[in-house]
Amino acid sequence: MQEKVDIKNYCLQELKEIFCANNFIEYQASQVFSWVYAKRVEDFYSMTNISKEMRLAFAEKFYFSKFKIVKKELSNDKTEKFLFELKDKDRIESVFIPEESRATLCVSSQVGCKFNCKFCLSGKPGFKRNLKISEIVNQYLAVSSSVAPSKITNLVFMGIGEPLDNFSNVTKAIEIFMAPSGIGFGKRKICVSTCGLIEGIEKLARLKLGIKLSVSLHSADEAIRTKLMPVNKKYPLKELSKAVKDFTKYEKYPITFEYALIHGINTGKEDARKLIKFVHGINCKINLIPWNKSSLEFNQPDSMETESFCRELKSGGVFFTLRKPRGQDINAACGQLAASWS
Ligand code: SAH
Repeated sequence: MQEKVDIKNYCLQELKEIFCANNFIEYQASQVFSWVYAKRVEDFYSMTNISKEMRLAFAEKFYFSKFKIVKKELSNDKTEKFLFELKDKDRIESVFIPEESRATLCVSSQVGCKFNCKFCLSGKPGFKRNLKISEIVNQYLAVSSSVAPSKITNLVFMGIGEPLDNFSNVTKAIEIFMAPSGIGFGKRKICVSTCGLIEGIEKLARLKLGIKLSVSLHSADEAIRTKLMPVNKKYPLKELSKAVKDFTKYEKYPITFEYALIHGINTGKEDARKLIKFVHGINCKINLIPWNKSSLEFNQPDSMETESFCRELKSGGVFFTLRKPRGQDINAACGQLAASWS
């Protein structure tokens, strides 16, 4: 007997192609797709606008993978962290962040991470593998039904891993998230964050998905950034700046630069001035975030340090926000996700 395939590993276009290749009717791929993602029905027998015969044929060809929540933790600020165990026992985490006017889900894109940013816990166990499309989409489906009737309004690829290093699966999952007959996220409701993979930024620009881009900058000084983020050796600031400027030609909305304020490392006047210079001429905003505490050997900025950095940016006339960390008490804030798989 032929091995069944996980229907959630395909975006709509691919599903249509598989239907054609199996001599199924192409438009029924759209019907099945919408049953799964719009109506959340994961059983062919309930897909009542499809003939019984075809339902049986589909059930022989496909199966629906499903995520079981291994652990759920609720923070004082209502942020919720979800731990999932994958088929091969690897573990990943997702974080649900409710706010007054929106609720964001932060998803993981890889098991571990290759890029080893020195201040981030997620990369410490090293890299294991890319997540499949189904494993990205299933994080959303599992959290969405767990938090119902609350609705997830925004989706950010800011969990474990580097989304642009898993480009194909991440962008196909985004297609499922955005498909009007699928989950139906609107433009600008999805954000991909990258440590600065230039080819990935270029490829993403050309796809013109209409999603937001966030770049983890953390320093506008070449030497400091290389120390903090070894990826800067391969993709230095000058090239990153060009890639980001090109991106904003394809997608005409501001990109975000993430800047974690780390005590004594990137918070001085000179750091602020370099940042002001770096963002000059780029359609962007800066998201400052006081470094979230973890077991790593860095320190949180004190309030004087943060204030003077903000003052400097303000006098430079750049647009920035100082973000309040969420879910710190359950280690669900940026850079605190580890979900180590051993
Ligand atoms: N690999 C991608 C996606 C991860 S997003 C990227 O680098 O953008 C997670 C964000 O949290 C990144 O901006 C990362 O640099 C930041 N981060 C990591 N550790 C942090 C910490 N301890 N405090 C604040 N931000 C942190």
